[in-house]
Amino acid sequence: MRLFKMVMAMVAMAPAVAACGGSSADASSGPNVVASFYPYAFVAEQVAGDHATVTNLTAPGLEPHDLELTPQQVADIQDATVVVYEKGFQPAVDEAVDQSARGLTLDTTTVVPLEDTGAPAEPGDPGEPALSGDPHVWLDPNRLARITEAVAAELSRADAGHAAAYRANAIRLVARLHALDRDYREGLADCERTQFVTSHAAFGYLAQRYGLQMIAISGLSPDAEPSPQRLSELAALVRQDAITTIFSEVLASPALADTLAREVGVSTAVLDPIEGLPDADSQQNYLTIMRANLAALRQANGCR
Ligand code: ZN
Repeated sequence: MRLFKMVMAMVAMAPAVAACGGSSADASSGPNVVASFYPYAFVAEQVAGDHATVTNLTAPGLEPHDLELTPQQVADIQDATVVVYEKGFQPAVDEAVDQSARGLTLDTTTVVPLEDTGAPAEPGDPGEPALSGDPHVWLDPNRLARITEAVAAELSRADAGHAAAYRANAIRLVARLHALDRDYREGLADCERTQFVTSHAAFGYLAQRYGLQMIAISGLSPDAEPSPQRLSELAALVRQDAITTIFSEVLASPALADTLAREVGVSTAVLDPIEGLPDADSQQNYLTIMRANLAALRQANGCR
């Protein structure tokens, strides 16, 4: 009787699966999750396990601020079982979701509201909040843990048959994120300095959570470039606070960080805002990059 019901359920599902067809003609029959950029794709993949397919709208090597969508990607959003995105961060995605999405949509700002972290929207413009707040919530592991739980809830709504697996996968990732949070708190508790200099103002939530002070060369977006005047102010700050390291990024140009470091005579290192992986073959993931970031911060700030 039980088996009969299952067979009937599968027969009933078949036409719906066929109707989804189109672009992602993957043979897998599970839900199809579209994530707007890497950190949310990582979360969706971890939660999905083998039961759902995840597509990232921001290809490896691309920087997600101001992403443009291809017509195929708009079609992917339309056909997605679940779309995970962050309203206000990528306007093209917001527009496509509003106009085309037929499945479930998870706007992460409904789970983790954007806040004014004090990160300057434009370089040298402290205290002037961006219109919708600082978008870089994923750099706080605790906030990403809350988003993980929300992704599991949406996937379970879309595919109730695998709800227990999604829940278990989410619990595992949340535990890892909480362990990461604990290591950041402990690792940054006893340092010679709390200030750190970054390329764009991506680390506002991270700084807030772990008692650090971010000094950003650019604004909230990597293309908001500082004036020569701002650069000399920064050079003075670096000297005054005996800062040892200017951090550059993986996806954005290191030119400004290099210029500043050369002018003051300090070294550069990478602090990755994890807006995307550098390439499709990268062996790194959110957790390994966050741990590399922690090591870089401890080194630069003389932490014990
Ligand atoms: Zn950014």
